Amino acid sequence: MKLANVHGRAAVATDDGVIDVEMASEGRFGPSMRSVYDQWSAFRDWVPSATGTPLTVDPATLGAPSPEPRQVFGVGANYLDHVEEARATRPTTPVVFTKFPTCITGPNTVVVLPSASIDWEAELVIVVGTGGHLIPPEHAWDAIAGFTIGQDLSDRVLQLNYDRPQFSLAKSLPGFGPTGPVLVTTDEFADPDTMHVRCVINGRTRQDFTTDRLIFSVPNIIVELSKIVTLLPGDIIFTGTSSGVGMIQDPPEYLQPGDEIVTSIDGIGSMTTRLVGA
Ligand code: ZN
Repeated sequence: MKLANVHGRAAVATDDGVIDVEMASEGRFGPSMRSVYDQWSAFRDWVPSATGTPLTVDPATLGAPSPEPRQVFGVGANYLDHVEEARATRPTTPVVFTKFPTCITGPNTVVVLPSASIDWEAELVIVVGTGGHLIPPEHAWDAIAGFTIGQDLSDRVLQLNYDRPQFSLAKSLPGFGPTGPVLVTTDEFADPDTMHVRCVINGRTRQDFTTDRLIFSVPNIIVELSKIVTLLPGDIIFTGTSSGVGMIQDPPEYLQPGDEIVTSIDGIGSMTTRLVGA
């Protein structure tokens, strides 16, 4: 199942267009994306019976698959080649920060560059479905709603060069969390442990990797996070990025006004982030 945010209303996306969830369910589910995640199990069971005339929608108008997450988690240092390029050490437990929810935007966004040290990070993003606390490994996949694409935009000077690192603030400026274009449930993928992620900037491929190389896999992230916090419906988790970010280039390369990032994952789609000057 693919789920889209159409002008703030949850819609099931089909090859022929989108079906509004609230109208098709006669008010049982929706209209907001959040209300769908809040009733995830019942909603997932209902979807196969959904009927309605699909409406065409301009993909450029889609919103974030989870526009109002109560919690946003980011996992750092979760691919060995990124750990090595950043000259860090391999973590033994997930390295977790937050992106504050106000930074979350949709799949077609314009981001104002607040400084000259803004970097890209293409990532697979988990959207939590039922969630929970102390989720056992055998229930980890069931706790999530599905996947979307994310860019974990980061101000590297703010993040790394101060006396004390500011991971969460440096990744939470306005527009720093583009997500989309749709949520795709994990049953849609032949192998949800191996998602193919790409980041193309101004037509040049900068990142190209598969998620089978994650140090902490999707179920591992769910288990480890839920050992500590309660995961809530609609929460989103940036799972980490692989090699090819701008800060490790020699000299470092950062995003410039006029740049266009196309981030894509096979089976989910792609999203476009445009950068403009302040
Ligand atoms: Zn990241």
